[in-house]
Amino acid sequence: MIKVRGLKKNYGRVQALKGLDMDVPAGSIYGFIGQNGAGKTTALRILAGLLVPGQGLAEVAGWDIMLYPRAVQEAIGYMPDFFGVYDDLRVGEYLLFYASAYGIKGPRAGKLRDDLLELVELGDKREAFVDTLSRGMQQRLCLARALVHDPPVLLLDEPASGLDPLARVEMREILKELGQMGKTILVSSHILTELANLCTHIGMITEGALVRQGVLADLLNNTPVRKIVLRCACPTEKAVKFLEGWPGVEGINCQLHQVEFGLAGGLFQVAELLKELVNQEVPVTHFAPEEQTLEDTFVQLAGQTEV
Ligand code: ATP
Repeated sequence: MIKVRGLKKNYGRVQALKGLDMDVPAGSIYGFIGQNGAGKTTALRILAGLLVPGQGLAEVAGWDIMLYPRAVQEAIGYMPDFFGVYDDLRVGEYLLFYASAYGIKGPRAGKLRDDLLELVELGDKREAFVDTLSRGMQQRLCLARALVHDPPVLLLDEPASGLDPLARVEMREILKELGQMGKTILVSSHILTELANLCTHIGMITEGALVRQGVLADLLNNTPVRKIVLRCACPTEKAVKFLEGWPGVEGINCQLHQVEFGLAGGLFQVAELLKELVNQEVPVTHFAPEEQTLEDTFVQLAGQTEV
């Protein structure tokens, strides 16, 4: 649904994007992870048609962003990282204003307003002034605004930034619901745990280029090195000898009945090693691969350059 190839963007001498490649499948919730300054906002602003890239290609819903900006505008709902709200405007009026900008008027606009407010859980705030809403409510209103023209693709720049934990959860649940409605969602964040519970796919960006992307579960299962703790019923010499000859094992640290080591590869390699240890009659009493978090994965991958 979104395809990006070799996207570059400089701000003066700052290279914000250095040849970004990205594929966001239709119907996915794609978490775009990167540290501050990695280039996420720049990429999203280019996709939203607000910035012109220096070089490269980008397509949204099959439309080249440079050749068909109008079609791209219709296909996307964009939620920026910073947004202004209008003073002296009520929540309902705010949405009607945006609906009219898309040519939606009369009873249709009223129904759309009510449906959207319900979706973002602001039904009871219809008559409240926008600037009296909490930050979390304002973010949700901004999301509703991005949905006014029912776009198939959502570009959300740090939608949960500045929100308290409860408001984050609320935002996450709404995004999940939008995912279930079939929207393709590209959502940026530097808060990894937030994306782990939400996304189907992940793209990790470091210094303007993607270091990894793919299905979230695959990324977590196929990390370069996983720490494992092994305990045996007898001294660990036999296990250590075996591990020293096993491909992908590194950093062996042994005590009397316990060995800690790293293993390259995914869960399949972990299972294979355990099977072979048992086959070799190592008396295994405990075999615990450390749970890999998205954060671990990012830290491990951030230093690499391949996609
Ligand atoms: P954050 O999570 O902090 O929003 P980001 O990943 O969205 O960061 P960008 O905002 O795209 O990153 O910034 C990428 C790089 O480009 C950074 O080094 C930033 O300082 C620089 N940059 C961004 N906007 C401008 C600008 N208007 N002028 C000059 N440099 C800029």
